Order: sequence, then C-alpha cells, then structure tokens
Amino acid sequence: MNVRADDLSSQTVFEPPTDLAARANLTAAAYERAATDRLGFWAEQAERIHWQTPFTRVLDWSNPPFAKWFVGGRLNAAYNCVDRHVEAGNGDKVAIHWVGEPAGDTRTLTYADLKDEVCRASNALTELGVGTGDRVAIYLPMIPEAVVAMLACARLGAAHTVVFGGFSADALASRIEDCKAKVVITADGGFRRGSSNALKLAVDEAIAATSVVEHVLVVRRTGQGVGWIEGRDVWWHDVVDTASVEHAPDAFDSEHPLYVMYTSGTTGKPKGILHTTGGYLVQTAYTFWGVFDLKDDDVYWCTADIGWVTGHSYIVYGPLACGATQVLYEGTPDTPHKGRWWEIIQDYRVTKFYTAPTAIRTCMKWGERIPAQYDLSTLRVLGSVGESISPEAYLWYRENIGGGRTPIVDTWWQTETGAHMITPLPGSTAAKPGAAMRPVPGISAEVVDDAGNPVGPSESGYLVLTEPWPSMLRTIWGDDQRFEETYWSRFPGCYFAGDGAKKDQAGDIWLLGRVDDVMNVSGHRLSTTEIESALVSHSKVAEAAAIGASDETTGQAVVGFVILLESAGDGGADIVQELRTHVGKEIGPIAKPRQIVIVTELPKTRSGKIMRRLLRDVAEHRAIGDATTLTDSSVMDLISSGMNNQKDGD
Ligand code: ATP
Ligand code: MG
Repeated sequence: MNVRADDLSSQTVFEPPTDLAARANLTAAAYERAATDRLGFWAEQAERIHWQTPFTRVLDWSNPPFAKWFVGGRLNAAYNCVDRHVEAGNGDKVAIHWVGEPAGDTRTLTYADLKDEVCRASNALTELGVGTGDRVAIYLPMIPEAVVAMLACARLGAAHTVVFGGFSADALASRIEDCKAKVVITADGGFRRGSSNALKLAVDEAIAATSVVEHVLVVRRTGQGVGWIEGRDVWWHDVVDTASVEHAPDAFDSEHPLYVMYTSGTTGKPKGILHTTGGYLVQTAYTFWGVFDLKDDDVYWCTADIGWVTGHSYIVYGPLACGATQVLYEGTPDTPHKGRWWEIIQDYRVTKFYTAPTAIRTCMKWGERIPAQYDLSTLRVLGSVGESISPEAYLWYRENIGGGRTPIVDTWWQTETGAHMITPLPGSTAAKPGAAMRPVPGISAEVVDDAGNPVGPSESGYLVLTEPWPSMLRTIWGDDQRFEETYWSRFPGCYFAGDGAKKDQAGDIWLLGRVDDVMNVSGHRLSTTEIESALVSHSKVAEAAAIGASDETTGQAVVGFVILLESAGDGGADIVQELRTHVGKEIGPIAKPRQIVIVTELPKTRSGKIMRRLLRDVAEHRAIGDATTLTDSSVMDLISSGMNNQKDGD
C-alpha cells in the first residue's frame, strides 16, 4: 500500500498532557512488566476481581484454540460488579446517572440501589424457571433495567444474549433460536427520536416463529398497548418490584458461560460469540481502568448501545467491576436538538467520553458551532471505537470536543476479543491521529505477510494475535469447528482478526480495514480506510465509503459513496470530478475512483459500521445480501436509485 500513514505519522504527534502523565494508571513500566512475565502480569490484573475460590493456574493452553483462563477459580460476575462495592462502603456512590430521551426524564442509581434491583430481578427470574446453564434473551431500550437484567442473569449463571432494540422480529427470532433462550426480557416499547417504537410486538412475532421461549418479562417504559398471553407474559413491575432484595450469589467456574453476543455482520452472517466469566471480567476491568485512566471522581459516558459488545464490556462489566460512576443515555444525539450529547456532558460534568467515529462524523456534518455552545471543559480523555478514525475526524474530535488538550484513545478490538487490544494509553503514549498504536500491556499482536512472517517497517499485511488473552472468545456458540476454521486456520498458532494493518517506521500499528474489503486495482492493493480518509479530507465531505467493484479492464475499480457536509449544499456541478481528482492527488492516480455517488445516508450496523458488502452488491448490480443488522433498511433503496441516476466517470 502507499505511504499515506507514514506521511501522517511524521506530521502530527500528540504527547500525553503532563498532568495526566504524572498520575497515569498505566505507564511504560506496565509494558515492561508484561513483556518479561506475561502470565504473571495477568495474574496481577486478576487481583482486580474478587475470587470466591482462587485460581490455581493462569492459563491452560494445552488444547488450542480452546483456552482456559484462571483455571480452578470461582467467582460471581454480578457480585463483582455490584455487591462488593456496597460491602466496601461505597453503596452511596452513583453507579448510573440515567438520562431518558424525553427531557427531564432521569434516574439515579447508587451501587446500593443497583444491588437491590439486581437481587430482585434474580429472584424473579428464578421464579420464572431460569437457572444456571440457561440462556436468556434481552431486547430492551437503553434503560437501567437492561443493565439490571444482564447482571441478574450473570448472578444466576444464565448466559444472556442481548439483541439490539432496533433489530427486526426476524433477527431476534434467529438469535433466540440459535442459542435456545428460555426467557425473553423486553419492554412495551422504547423512545427514539421523540416517538415510541414497539418492542413487545416484535417479541411476540419472533416467538411465534420459535418454540423455545417459556416466559416473557416485560418492562413498562412507554405505556403503549401490548398483546398479552396469560401465563407466558409477566410484567416486570409485578414480579421484580415485589421480589425480595435478599439474594445470595453462587460462585461459578472461571470458564462458566457469561454471554453470547452476535457480531455486527459487517462482513457476513452474524456469529454467536461465546464469552466466559473470569478472563472476560479481568480484562474488561483492567482495560477500563488503564485505557480510560480511571480516577475516583470520574464521570464516564459511553454512547454505545448495550446490544453491542462495547455496551457489554464498557458500560456493564468493565465500569461496574471497577466501581465507576457513569452516564447512561436512552436516546439519539439529535433529540430534541443537535446539542443533546454536549448538554449531557455539561450537565453531568463528564470526564471520560467514549463514542464511535460514525457519530463524530455526524457531528462534524452538523458543524462545530453546536458543541461550541456547551461547557466541555471537564473532559479529560476521549475514546473512539468501531472502525478506524480518520485523521480529519480525530483532529475535529480533539479540537472541538476535547478543547485541543484531551488525548484520544483509538481502541481497536472486536466482539471476539471481548476487550481492548490495541490502543494508545492516555497518560503514556505519544499518539498519532488515525493510528491504534500498540497492543495494551499483556497483549501480543503482529502484522504478518501472506506466509505469516512479520512485516517490516512501513509494510502492511494481516493483523494477528500471537498469544491467547483472557477475554478471548471461547468458541462460536454451538459450532467449535466454525470457530477453528474462521479464526485459527489461516495462520497456524495465531488468531487472525480479519483486519488489514500497517506498521509505520516506528513500528506503530495503523488499521487498514477488513481484508475482505481490500481492493485490487490493476494489481495494486488499496485499502478502504485510506481512500475513505482521502475523501473525507476534502473540505466538502462529511462521510465516505469506498469499495472495489469488479471492472473489466482493471480487475476491480474504486467506487466511492459520499455524504457532503451540510454547509457544502449540493457540492456544485463539478463535485464528482473534484473528488476524483482529490483522491488521485492524495494517494495516487491508481486510487482515483471510477465512480463517485453522492448519497444522503450510508448503510450502517448498530455500531455505526458501514456495510460495504451491501454497497458492493449495489455497485455490481446484484441482489442485496443479509441486511438483518442494518439500522435502517430503507437506505439501500435510496442508494440503489442514486447509483442508477449517476453515470460512470471517465
Ligand atoms: P462481522 O464479524 O460479523 O463481520 P463486525 O466485525 O463488524 O461483524 P464487530 O465485532 O462489532 O463486528 O467489529 C469489530 C471490527 O471493527 C474489527 O474487526 C475492526 O474491523 C473494526 N474496528 C473496531 N475498532 C476499530 C478501531 N479502533 N480501528 C479500526 N477498526 C476498528
Ligand atoms: Mg468481525
């Protein structure tokens, strides 16, 4: 690939702020310690967790790729996230500042409140027949009950599978069926963009297509009418609110299933990723503490949906295991106005903020005047997750949200990895805009070529993880063989993540997008990330997606889908030419898109990832593939018609 990453790395480096560096939780010493004794380092991190029975061995890797971490240890994840903080005298500390979408609709839950709620829900679920080893599906809006439901399942040793509230009945049914969920926890509906959307209705439809569900536990959130099946359906306020707050947690084996989470489906049909208890809790707690540089007075806020792995690891398990205070927000960033997020940061004096590049680009599109109206001076660390953050978006985020002083942690990880793997550290890394930098202490990653050999400086290849890690997936639910084939067969002994990456001169890692998305134009390999970064660096562009579409002469040709900034209007008559020339200039003539389509939306998953495979389908005039994880299914029709109205470039 080309030299763009190196150009950038030599241009801009942000040293950690001196005050942060002086009190940093993770420093160079941690990298050294982990490098000399990796398993010893993880044993130390495991001390962040309360073990009912201590583990006897850190790692059993005698039967790869099936790992056992903290062997022999027994623990309860919910006890770790709630009870022990109350027992330590922190019951009055706020766990969750919940902000509903309707103005003024807020709730505050201390750790003591959360403990009572989790115990009540555990007792109610037991009454409904949920026991250790069962699965429970959760299909809720972003309300405190979602957190309570997950923790109650964990407390009972029943694996949860959380399905994003925006998904259809079909998507829900296939997940319920795949993991055989016995109970579904849902709400009548949820608020989104000022109106209420029905959830119970979708659950009824989903259950009609399956035969495994015994009970539906329903939270009343919107008050809308719901269908009801006596005996099967029960109201949360009837059975949870009236249950006892006494509940003694059992301790489970470190390898006991904690949850099944289906991937975004960006590259194909979603996979049910299994996470287990001990290792997952250790690594989420450790990375939350280290990567966000957690301090006692922090108010943390992660905007991810709880139905995404980020919501699991960095709203529920990581922050709560660390006893942190956080904001949980139900709604969208533009309801009732486009400054809602920044208003929440101002009102709750948020210090650590974690979001996705797609949201940052949306805010860029709306313009910097909006965040400028709020006091964001409490922010100390900003985070990014979900895809590469382009240097332009990074600089905008740092400048307009972070006041030009706040470090950004660009965290690379996956549903499969369970927790952060590659990221700068806010108090010790000199960060480069657009680079994920280095594996966190304790993690071993490499960029390799086709033959599996590490690439040299300034070379690109495949990102692999060369050693097992505590929060790694244990299998694909019900399909060990697919687990081995998907992740462990391409490079023997290594986990292959599916992402392309590049090492710069200094050895720092830049993510280049999915290997499946890499284009081959006349024998030149081009990464989606680089072309998209080039497009977004144009002054009229807010967002861009690039794909390789089959082409008779060049094998593949670049097709760009572009959303313009609101301030750019329609971009002017020559906008397509202008953009093609711009990419040619930024990267080289070979990368010049054959075609550029101006669109108003891009097909995205719930985590904001662009589904390039669907764009490829459109560009190659094929029927559109599995779109069950799309947040808004109407966008594909819009894009198809936009595509057909525009001629190919020269
Ligand atoms: P599927 O595996 O079904 O295609 P998915 O990979 O989109 O779905 P996730 O587990 O939510 O599902 O996404 C993980 C992927 O997100 C990573 O493999 C990587 O491509 C991308 N990603 C996440 N964080 C970053 C980051 N900081 N920089 C670059 N890419 C990132
Ligand atoms: Mg993936």
